[in-house]
Amino acid sequence: MNEHNSKNNWNIHVKYWGTSGSISSPLKPSSVTEKIIDSICTLAKSGHLKDIDHANLESSVAKMVHNHLPFSSKSTFGGNTSCVEINTEDCMIVIDCGTGVINFGINLESKWANLPNEKRKGLILFSHMHYDHLFGLPMCQSFYETTNSFDLYGCEKVAGNLIDFFGQNSDMVNSLYPPILSKIKAIKKIMPFEENSPLVIGSTKISHFQLNHPGSANAYKIQSKGKSYVYASDHEQLTETDTGLANFCKNADAIYLDGQFLLSEYLGESGIGSGVPTKRIGWGHTPMEWCLLTAFAANAKSLHLGHRDPRRSDIEIENILAYLKGHAVELSKSNQQNCPEILFPHEEMDCFI
Ligand SMILES: [Zn+2]
Ligand SMILES: [Zn+2]
Repeated sequence: MNEHNSKNNWNIHVKYWGTSGSISSPLKPSSVTEKIIDSICTLAKSGHLKDIDHANLESSVAKMVHNHLPFSSKSTFGGNTSCVEINTEDCMIVIDCGTGVINFGINLESKWANLPNEKRKGLILFSHMHYDHLFGLPMCQSFYETTNSFDLYGCEKVAGNLIDFFGQNSDMVNSLYPPILSKIKAIKKIMPFEENSPLVIGSTKISHFQLNHPGSANAYKIQSKGKSYVYASDHEQLTETDTGLANFCKNADAIYLDGQFLLSEYLGESGIGSGVPTKRIGWGHTPMEWCLLTAFAANAKSLHLGHRDPRRSDIEIENILAYLKGHAVELSKSNQQNCPEILFPHEEMDCFI
């Protein structure tokens, strides 16, 4: 179900463009230097540097980096905020327009370059209106191209607020963003979802579910040809296992849940990185250990943990993943249930479902 799975046999293709939570968090220059030092040390210690083939230097080094370095040394999970692209046989959907939507748009223009106008169509779904899910929208070139066509959906409040925020009469947007709604010509319609009514396009069904978050947020379930993917970011579970969300995600092939904190960070027993411990109850996000319990209750095949706290380093994320995998194995034994695959999606990651 991840990028190593078959690209030729899928019903839902998910591509992540932004998985950082709350605010964009670009890699610091000192972190790049640390990664280079760490990579060379790792290769030197393991003895692989002597295997370099100087006659085919680039390919030989590329192979070494690919095969012998951990992800946190050779790459990054990325620092852009929420944006996920989903493709089915019937439609292309983008959920949330955080800063990740800028790279989504750059990629889309080459992907759609040779398509006739009637096929340059997509849906935009908004989970909610917080800045980290919204501020990429005026920066995405694809939304200005008159040859493109997007319909935008959210809950009733989102649709109304977007028009207020980006519309002609918004003083705020005229100061912050010269391109007001009338200039984002590719967005043809802004519509609220009908209450309790899924959107159906061919064999693709899009359902929504209300989450617990300040100002509210929507989760989305995309189903196509017997496969399903759920995006449920910006949610604070009120109980360790969220049975309502688990029912919405029942037997999903992959679920993307909001795991901004560890339980100890949520309860204020430990800080994030070098930060001081602060209680984070009521902030609208769920501890990862509780996401895992909900994934088990949902019998989900794969748990994607997103809305990462922007202070996490890449190596911390890898260490947390190892801890969660261990925790999941214990739960699986005590529950006598299959263990879901657990991953932190990085930018540009493809998942074929
Ligand atoms: Zn958010
Ligand atoms: Zn939010």
